[in-house]
Amino acid sequence: MEARVGRYDEVREGVPRAVKVGRHPVVLIRLGDELHALPGRCTHRPRPLSKGLLHGSRLLCPSHQAAFDVRTGDALEPPALDALPKYPVRVVDGEVLVEVDDGGPDRRPMLMAPYDPDADGRTFAILGAGGAGAVGAEALRRAGYQGRVLLIGSEAHLPYDRPNCSEEFLTGKVVDDRLALRSAGFYEEHHIERVHARVDRLDVPTREVLFDDGRRLRPDAVLVATGAVPRLLPVPGIDRDGVLTLRSVEDGAAIIEAAERTTHSTIVGAGFIGLEVAAALRTRGLEVTVVAPESLPLGPLLGERLGRLVMAVHEAAGVRFEMGHTIAEVAGDGGVRAVVLDDGREVPAGLVVVGIGVRPATAFVEGLALAPDGGIEVDEQLRAASGVWAAGDVAWYPEPYSGRRVRIEHWRTAQQHGIAAAFSMAGRGAPFAGVPFFWTRQQRLHLAFVGHLAGWEEVVFAGEVEAGDFVAFFLSGDRLLGAGGTRTAQIGALSELIRCGAAPCAEELRAGPGLDLVARMGETPDCEGPAR
Ligand code: NAP
Repeated sequence: MEARVGRYDEVREGVPRAVKVGRHPVVLIRLGDELHALPGRCTHRPRPLSKGLLHGSRLLCPSHQAAFDVRTGDALEPPALDALPKYPVRVVDGEVLVEVDDGGPDRRPMLMAPYDPDADGRTFAILGAGGAGAVGAEALRRAGYQGRVLLIGSEAHLPYDRPNCSEEFLTGKVVDDRLALRSAGFYEEHHIERVHARVDRLDVPTREVLFDDGRRLRPDAVLVATGAVPRLLPVPGIDRDGVLTLRSVEDGAAIIEAAERTTHSTIVGAGFIGLEVAAALRTRGLEVTVVAPESLPLGPLLGERLGRLVMAVHEAAGVRFEMGHTIAEVAGDGGVRAVVLDDGREVPAGLVVVGIGVRPATAFVEGLALAPDGGIEVDEQLRAASGVWAAGDVAWYPEPYSGRRVRIEHWRTAQQHGIAAAFSMAGRGAPFAGVPFFWTRQQRLHLAFVGHLAGWEEVVFAGEVEAGDFVAFFLSGDRLLGAGGTRTAQIGALSELIRCGAAPCAEELRAGPGLDLVARMGETPDCEGPAR
């Protein structure tokens, strides 16, 4: 169906415009004299791309910074995995006409090389089918690799959207069969062999993989993408029924089930897991107490002012805090009745969720010196040793924008790592150039963060922090380490500026934290990378 969607001279260069063709939302974009029409919703989650940012020909989704090339529709950055189809567009007598196939798809897969063992007899094994592993597996095909791909994971189901486990899945808005990143048919079509197994040992020098059922394998290349496991709290009663952690969709399901059987819950840890679970359990009507050693939730990471804000929004939703404490015991008979705080007070709880951080899941790695926290040091192409790569939560990698070696536990970074490692494994590697980014919902606050904030010395603010409309810039000496806040357009623009080496310096932000980063991005030519 073709429809008139407005006049050509109403479409401003650089400003995505929302239009409709019948019932189909479309985003219309002008680059120079050319018009481009694409589906109006991101292929990651259905957010409106007309509210996104345009930098050169890169269109960034406003919510989670998926990026698309407007000229081709290709997906440039995760968490979008699928590309956008292009819609035919023409101008007649100054009127713009867009054609959308009424029953047609609003997404398309990226171009992938077919499996062909005659063309390539190698076998690549990916250990771990989380964000880095699953996205890495399909990126091998995108990189032109035609040999065998084994995607080995200990979780029984299809690779899934892990962030959702502490978001809409936990509140009950999304059910688990909607969490899969891809259908089983997708993996079959691209000949990605899903192997349900646990790896007991990887001998790095020989690349030999030993499974827990005794099977052995010696692949031509290995990607370690096993993620992380929740840290445990060594206190009496921690193994009682009703004490849970949250990492997997099964963990999420167990929390939901336990929440349905009780009225009181305690969360140990005021990090992202703890706070997102606290919010979800309040939505389910439970009493929620958060216990953590710091004085303010997220305080060590984000500082006092944002810690106060985060605490205030949760308190307004009915969450109670016992800050400055940890737990000494989980009391009960079999199940949980209460937690005993370190000062001896008891807090009633039929459900306890422990979210006190994670450690890299690398206990099976042998023949390689691990970092003190169990992580794996990699080079700029995420290579750990000859024929062995590491990606995601396990990888200590040289972060190009800060010049520091970091290990980052963000979902989008894991996916970016998976793609970069896959291209490197396929012989088309380039130095990793993803900009760290994560999002979190804290009650009414939708927060986005860019950069790597560890080690900040000073925070400067633009906007109204307490009103929940702000950007916070994290500075160290003369350097901007990163920023976060609710003004997602400013955060997205900063991400682009960091990527292109044009971020403002600390001095400039101290002098005028309110500077318009979107305008600055508009004046900064796109540096065309990373484009995968
Ligand atoms: P986290 O963000 O590192 O937070 C750990 C929390 O536990 C901190 O508040 C910490 O306090 C506290 N803690 C440490 N030891 C404790 C103890 N003995 N008793 C009580 N509290 C204690 O870790 P997480 O929340 O478990 O999350 C795991 C990983 O998943 C993190 O990397 C996180 O970034 C990631 N994640 C991200 C998102 C998102 O991006 N939206 C959502 C969920 C999870 P101190 O700071 O004082 O040590």
